[in-house]
Amino acid sequence: MSQETSASILSTDSAALSPAMRQYRAAKEAHPDTLLFFRMGDFYELFYEDAVVASRELQLTLTARDKAKSVPMCGVPYHAAESYLQRLLRKGFRVAICEQMEDPKQAKGVVRREVTRVLTPGTALDPSLSAEQSNYLASIVLEGASDHQTCGVALLDLSTGEFRTTEFSGLTAWLQATDELGRVRPVELLYGSGLLGSVNLAGESVEEGSAALDTIRTKTALESWAYTPDHALPLLRSHFRVHSLDGLGLHGHETAAIAAGALLHYMRATKQGDLEHVNGLRFYERSSCLELDAVSVRNLELVEPLFSGESQQTTLFYTLDACCTPMGKRLLRATLLRPSSNLHEIEERLDAVAEATTDLRRREDIRQAMNGLLDLERLLGRVALDSAGPREVMALAATLRCLPGLSAAIGQLHAARWADLTFGFDTLADLHDLVTRTITDDPPVSLSDGGIIREGVNAELDELRELSRSGRQALAAIEERERQRTGIASLKVRFNNVFGYYIEVTKANAKAVPSDYERKQTLVNAERFTTPELKEYETKILTAQERSSEIERRIFAEVRRQILDAAARIRETARRVAEVDLLTCFAHLSALRGWTRPVVHETGPLEFVAARHPVVERRLEESGAGRFVPNSVHLDADSGPSILLITGPNMGGKSTYLRQAALLVIMAQCGSFVPAEHMRLGLVDRIYTRIGASDNVARGRSTFMVEMTETAAILNSATNRSLVLLDEMGRGTATYDGLSLAWATVEHLHDRIGARTLFATHYHELTLLADKLERLRNLRVTVKETAAGIVFLHSVEAGPASKSYGIEVARLAGIPSAVIARAREVLKLHERAESQQVREAVSSHAPSLQMTMFTPLSQRIVDRLAEVDVDGLTPREALNLLADLQRELKG
Ligand code: ATP
Repeated sequence: MSQETSASILSTDSAALSPAMRQYRAAKEAHPDTLLFFRMGDFYELFYEDAVVASRELQLTLTARDKAKSVPMCGVPYHAAESYLQRLLRKGFRVAICEQMEDPKQAKGVVRREVTRVLTPGTALDPSLSAEQSNYLASIVLEGASDHQTCGVALLDLSTGEFRTTEFSGLTAWLQATDELGRVRPVELLYGSGLLGSVNLAGESVEEGSAALDTIRTKTALESWAYTPDHALPLLRSHFRVHSLDGLGLHGHETAAIAAGALLHYMRATKQGDLEHVNGLRFYERSSCLELDAVSVRNLELVEPLFSGESQQTTLFYTLDACCTPMGKRLLRATLLRPSSNLHEIEERLDAVAEATTDLRRREDIRQAMNGLLDLERLLGRVALDSAGPREVMALAATLRCLPGLSAAIGQLHAARWADLTFGFDTLADLHDLVTRTITDDPPVSLSDGGIIREGVNAELDELRELSRSGRQALAAIEERERQRTGIASLKVRFNNVFGYYIEVTKANAKAVPSDYERKQTLVNAERFTTPELKEYETKILTAQERSSEIERRIFAEVRRQILDAAARIRETARRVAEVDLLTCFAHLSALRGWTRPVVHETGPLEFVAARHPVVERRLEESGAGRFVPNSVHLDADSGPSILLITGPNMGGKSTYLRQAALLVIMAQCGSFVPAEHMRLGLVDRIYTRIGASDNVARGRSTFMVEMTETAAILNSATNRSLVLLDEMGRGTATYDGLSLAWATVEHLHDRIGARTLFATHYHELTLLADKLERLRNLRVTVKETAAGIVFLHSVEAGPASKSYGIEVARLAGIPSAVIARAREVLKLHERAESQQVREAVSSHAPSLQMTMFTPLSQRIVDRLAEVDVDGLTPREALNLLADLQRELKG
């Protein structure tokens, strides 16, 4: 983040400054890395360097405060400040708000001012924040020395009060933690100064170069002591009012607790208030769900399109989002990032979805009842952060009003999950009652406008209102009487904030003004007067108004207090609403799109019959570009094929086939039905993807390096319960290096790991592996060759592709025909040279083979060598033999 500081004020001698500027200097000293919004009357002013930055970023006119024009200044009206603040925060700036702490009219000398809140991207509530997105502030800490390290990551969404923390340990603690950040994508990251630049156990420098950290816009270094147990843990205990952190499920997870405590430290330092809506902290473990690393989340376009700025329509989230409420949308997003790996939980969800799928009326009753439900969690957040006005509180009440109907609608369904959600569903009727009994139906936006509290709530308030009403009637009577008395028909009794009540007479009638009128103000066309009687009424009315406003504020604060006292209940209800919304969303889509219930087991094969890619299918439907061709998959880590090797032309549908498998597994483990005629699934523990080339030159890693790093992660940690997708591995380097790496990777996955794997490739040589690896099957995407060129059929069938059609596809893409013709010639030359080389290699190795022990394989090779004339081998046969030979010689 770039943040220019106003060095000039800090280097200015205090004595030379006016009292107000001395206050400005002190505030700036306390918050040097912020833009300081300094309240002066109806404006927030910025001075010195801050003014230069703000005028540039917000397109404000830069003026000067002093005659010598040496102090730049700009400002924004206080009532319009919100939108300016949001613009600065979105650009990654921090802003300190310095308010006037007393009424300027009553202040003796300079008005007292204080910084009341520091806004940062992770702490400000952006009203434009999209409903389905969480706004996480994250905190990270790396603990421990040479032989054992743990890394804690805490996440807080201040807008909803969601607060959770986790930790990772071992050699890859740091990597796993930053991967978690890459998945969650917080808007701001806190860390102890000194962390970046230190070294992790894997011997890597913990630095900003790490991929996941690069994507976080704002990083804030805290004093390193904020991350010490002595400071962070007591903060956590005092916030949650507990003696021990065990009650929060943090027993044995001190690093996670420290990350969370430091986050609370930041909340205090930036004066975010008591955070009463943050009433729980959840310890979570990634391994308790289907693990998806940041690379897979990105590659599979679960919640964001692959390239920022592209349409959201390519994401699974967009395709599955038929939720009615913002809470449901956020839960859908979170669930896609953390599908379950617990069979019982998945089955319960599927039972609930199944019931709601077949019962249209009851499902629609629920969805109808949720229509118009506002964001309970965010409204609660606003109440807690004191940014909710009377209208927000009424909006909360309007939402609470829908809850009994919703509860009754859910109660009509009977699956275990529905019963759990209905049992003890708190409709918060007492709160609804409190708000609607106290606040008027259509309150003004701001508390200071008055008229928020209903008649009958407070006797004194009613009396005062009566007083000011009768006062106003008396004023109308005065106006009428004075018109009669003076004979000035246009005489008016009016009020303004500066002069209070006055009698206004036009200049033309000034002569007719009686002598008991006292002049108050002269305007161009009129004179304003007062009388002792008017003054008396003025005092009465104004005092009554002031007092009523005080009472209204007090009552409103009391309502707010009671809402906050119920924060835990509101959050629990919001949680249930979100889940109801998610399950009915799944049911709605299943019914609408004809999806089927997956059959899920703890272990077993992964099998789809006639499956469709949900996103591509919808896109084809909406654009009218065609029909999706369903395809099947059968993978079995125990007895059937565990690796499917898919070959075929570019654009044939290989990547789509791979992604489709992962997306269906994710949907099933989220509890959704799937777009397939039939799906059987042995639970998947992790999904790994290595798809497409993602260059990251900015981070100093080439395409190939990125690819190999991702492949290394797969080979080092996949298990036989994982699903591995490898798309075009080894393409970023010389052909034979790439081919050999791909070859060895497939062997390793087959022999050592046994993970269910889909491997799409253009290396036709790899299809030879099917002869050697028992559990590898070749599949090909089909094309039809016509006189006009090739037609993609998009259906997947058994067997290897006979050729690549790369040049055909290039022709379709519009490569000039001369280049295409030349490419065909060059291809022929290469194929001829290649087969020659392979034959030579086989011949040169053959004698050494004779020297090795005769294993069954080598015996087979020797037999084959005896049968064939090496010179007469086709390139494919020669390569096959060569690979066996090399393996044998190594063995
Ligand atoms: P490349 O090797 O060039 O990466 P590919 O074989 O991986 O190509 P995909 O990117 O999967 O090909 O698919 C290309 C296009 O074909 C997709 O954008 C999609 O629109 C269409 N497609 C893929 N599969 C199907 C299908 N089963 N039914 C209909 N259309 C499909």
